[in-house]
Amino acid sequence: MSANLTDRPSSHHKPRFSGRRIADAGFSRSPAMSRRDVLLGGFCLCCIPQLGFAAAETTGLEEIASGVFVRRGPDVEASPGNRNGIANIGFIVGRDAVLVTDPGGSLADGRWLRSEIRKHTEKPIRHVVVTHMHPDHCFGAAAFEEDRPNIIGHHGLGAALQARGEFYRQRLAEILGPQEVGAVVLPTQEVSPDGAEVDLGGRVIRLKAHEAAHTTCDLSMTDSETGLLFAGDLLFVGRVPSLDGSLLGWLDELQKLRALDAKKIVPGHGPAAAEAAPAIADLERYLATLRDETREAIDNGMTIDEAVETVAQSERDRWTLFDDYNGRNVTQAYKELEWE
Ligand SMILES: [Zn+2]
Ligand SMILES: [Zn+2]
Repeated sequence: MSANLTDRPSSHHKPRFSGRRIADAGFSRSPAMSRRDVLLGGFCLCCIPQLGFAAAETTGLEEIASGVFVRRGPDVEASPGNRNGIANIGFIVGRDAVLVTDPGGSLADGRWLRSEIRKHTEKPIRHVVVTHMHPDHCFGAAAFEEDRPNIIGHHGLGAALQARGEFYRQRLAEILGPQEVGAVVLPTQEVSPDGAEVDLGGRVIRLKAHEAAHTTCDLSMTDSETGLLFAGDLLFVGRVPSLDGSLLGWLDELQKLRALDAKKIVPGHGPAAAEAAPAIADLERYLATLRDETREAIDNGMTIDEAVETVAQSERDRWTLFDDYNGRNVTQAYKELEWE
């Protein structure tokens, strides 16, 4: 059963756009923090904006299917030159309204996207879907304040942003400058485990809230008109994934993505659109290698530091940014699997 998030003006559920600081929900006091989080000091570094070395310009929008526009994010880290516009973001135009997903990596990135939308359509922007809590996907939401959209996320997104949002905002402000980052925007509509639908006027978007995988608040969505699956960071293509939820959970969720039987996907990172089957297979191979070799390292009595040096090295040449993320993924995997 799905809750139907109908396409209607959202004046009755006012988006929480206040620039309210939520430092009092800081991660170190979050009751929801797991032991793994404690061991990692609250975060795995892979989800914290890092100062990038290349000031790569972001690329333009591509219309990858009728009424579906995506900007490919470059495979680099956040830098002042790219305004943290490093994730794949875009929008879908229906008969009556526009849905944005994701809104961008900063206020500046979101403003860029909003101005691009206005070059294509004057239809109201009624929905902003945030696929998960990571800064490169969520901070653009502040750029849509005047549209008063529904801010839609996984049922765990609000709590995750309350726990980490302010930390992310400050870290990103150090890189981009505070005026570029924008406020932490909390969801106004959270998708339950049963899923939800949004109707853009004859164009229904189906939303699915996943169990812990890439993060603890991953949302995917399918466009009924084209069959396109927007996977968020549940799928990385070409760029090495970052693990910030559950390794075993992610492998399970990949099976669920496969069962959706989409032909084409929009990954969170990588090309604007890709074939579903090879994208899922590649990521599954990496994650399964990470799982199997980490288990082996634990069984052989290796320390985390030793495991970081050896696990999944066979994958090294297959992914960009491998050396930036694989070690952290091994650390995450080790902490998850050592309790088996
Ligand atoms: Zn991402
Ligand atoms: Zn992510």
